[in-house]
Amino acid sequence: MNRRRFLVAAVLAAAARAAATKIPGQAYFGSERYVEYLAGELPLVFSAPHGGRLRPESIPDRTSGVTDADANTQELARALHADLLARTGRHAHVVISHLHRRKLDPNRELAEAAQGSAVAEKTWHEYHATIAGALAAAVARHGFAFLVDVHGHAHPIPRLELGYALAAAQLNQSDAAFDTSELVKLSTLRDLHARSGGSGAALIRGPGSLGDLFAQRGYRAVPSPQEPQPGQNPFFAGGYTVRRHAADPATTKVDGLQIECHRPGVRDTGENRAAFARAAGDALLVYLKNRYAYAPGPAPAPAAP
Ligand SMILES: [Zn+2]
Repeated sequence: MNRRRFLVAAVLAAAARAAATKIPGQAYFGSERYVEYLAGELPLVFSAPHGGRLRPESIPDRTSGVTDADANTQELARALHADLLARTGRHAHVVISHLHRRKLDPNRELAEAAQGSAVAEKTWHEYHATIAGALAAAVARHGFAFLVDVHGHAHPIPRLELGYALAAAQLNQSDAAFDTSELVKLSTLRDLHARSGGSGAALIRGPGSLGDLFAQRGYRAVPSPQEPQPGQNPFFAGGYTVRRHAADPATTKVDGLQIECHRPGVRDTGENRAAFARAAGDALLVYLKNRYAYAPGPAPAPAAP
C-alpha cells in the first residue's frame, strides 16, 4: 500500500467509525449548519449539492462558474429518503449542502467551488468528509455502497441524464468499441464491473441497467436500452462528487452515479417528486438486488414505547 492509499484508508476508517456511531434517521449538522447529514443504515447515499438556499454575508458571492441552484433537488433527495423508509423501514444516508450555489459549489474542485473563501472551503471539506464517512459506514456494514448525486438540468429533452463519469463522446461509441476500449473501468460502476464482469456497455446501458429500470417505470433516461447515446444533445457526464467518491481507483467498493433530473413531472411539485421517488426507490432496490444480491430484509420492529 503506497502512502496516499494508506492515508486515504486511515481517513476513511475514522470517518466510518464516526458515521457508524450516529443514529439512523437523525439529522447531524456541520459548523454553522451549512452541511446536513441524515444518518442511514441502507447501502444507499444520496447527496444534494445544489439545492441549498442560504446566502450568508460571511461568504462572498462566487464570481465565476455556474451559480444557479438546481431547484427542489434538496426536497427530491428527502423524497427519495422518505420513499425508501416507507418501503424498507430503514434509512438511506442523505448529505445536503444548505449553502446556495452562489456561495459554494460542492460539486467542483476546491478552487472553483469556494473561490478563496475560508468559510466556504471549510464547508466543502465537511461536505465531502460527510459523504466519505457515510459511504465508508455503508461499506463496513454491507460490503459495498452506492452513491446517488441528485441534480436538476434544464436541457431541452425531458429525460434523466445518468452521469457515470463518461462523456457523451464515450457513450456515443458502439457497444463493441466501448468494450474494446474498456471505458467502464473509467466509470462510476468500475467496482461493480470488477465484481460482475461481462460487457461494460451492457452494464451501463443494457437490459436491467438503471436507465432501463427508470424507462420501464415511465421516466426516459440516457443512457438506457431505449436511448443508449446522448448523440449531439447536451449531456451531463457526472461531476466532481461522483468522480471523487465512486470513479477514483482509491475508493474501492463504492459505485454510484449523478442523476440529472428534468423539472416538469419530476421535481416541480411535491406530488411529482413523491411519484418520481416511488419509481426511483423501487428501481434502486431492484438494482441492488440484481447487481449486489442485496435485500434489506423485513422491516425492523418499531421500538418499544
Ligand atoms: Zn447540479
